[in-house]
Amino acid sequence: MKDSVYMAEMDAFTYREKLAKDAIVFVPVGALEQHGSHMAMCVDAYLTKAMAGATAEKVGGICAEPIIYGFKSQQRSGGGFHLTGTTSLDGSTLIAIVRDICRNIAEDGARKIVFMNGHYENYQFVYEGVDLALRDLRMEGIDDVEVMLMSYWDFVDDKTIEELYPEGFTGWDLEHAGVMETSLMLLLYPDLVDMDRIDEELYVGLPAVLPNYDVLPIKPEYTPPSGCLSHPGASTKEKGEILRDVAVKNMVDAIEKEFGA
Ligand code: ZN
Ligand code: MN
Repeated sequence: MKDSVYMAEMDAFTYREKLAKDAIVFVPVGALEQHGSHMAMCVDAYLTKAMAGATAEKVGGICAEPIIYGFKSQQRSGGGFHLTGTTSLDGSTLIAIVRDICRNIAEDGARKIVFMNGHYENYQFVYEGVDLALRDLRMEGIDDVEVMLMSYWDFVDDKTIEELYPEGFTGWDLEHAGVMETSLMLLLYPDLVDMDRIDEELYVGLPAVLPNYDVLPIKPEYTPPSGCLSHPGASTKEKGEILRDVAVKNMVDAIEKEFGA
């Protein structure tokens, strides 16, 4: 069996040995969500798995399988859960999934866990699931588990943003299917991106101009017709490489600071 940072590709005995040596376990949290006509719907789950895998490799950690469904896509950050293909969980379901996975990994011996988020809307539900898992674990007498939560784009520093977005940066919420995700996909999963599918007649009204509030039921006319919130046209594999390397380096620094890895 080849050596792998991915838990699913590891035998259980190797996993146990690594946990006994206090390996950090990473859990990527993604979504199954439309990303325009130029990318597959796996973006949030697959990119986060790759980012967590690259980070785990640097700290001798283990990357568990991603949670591949996420909380409801919102119009102001993912186009909205009304769009066909976007297949979302209720908040209570995501909390329950995170809670179960976090508790189970800790019961097996992990003491340092990182939940890495790759779908904007997930964050508070992951936070709640982790907090409830730690409460469960304390009831079981396990009180030495530490968990970090992060969204990988928060580790792209301002200098890199200035370099990669010379015409101005609209914020991570509007980056849905934009330059960051598309560049990372071109680097990591080129077969799942097709820049020729960026149809200029469809990719209009970008970056999206959205109200500074939410409204339910969703008003579909607020979402740009492509389902993207910013234009991916300037994406390149080279930008993907810069984004990955900067984010991974800064996540490693944060993890080493917190966990002393
Ligand atoms: Zn996305
Ligand atoms: Mn998303």
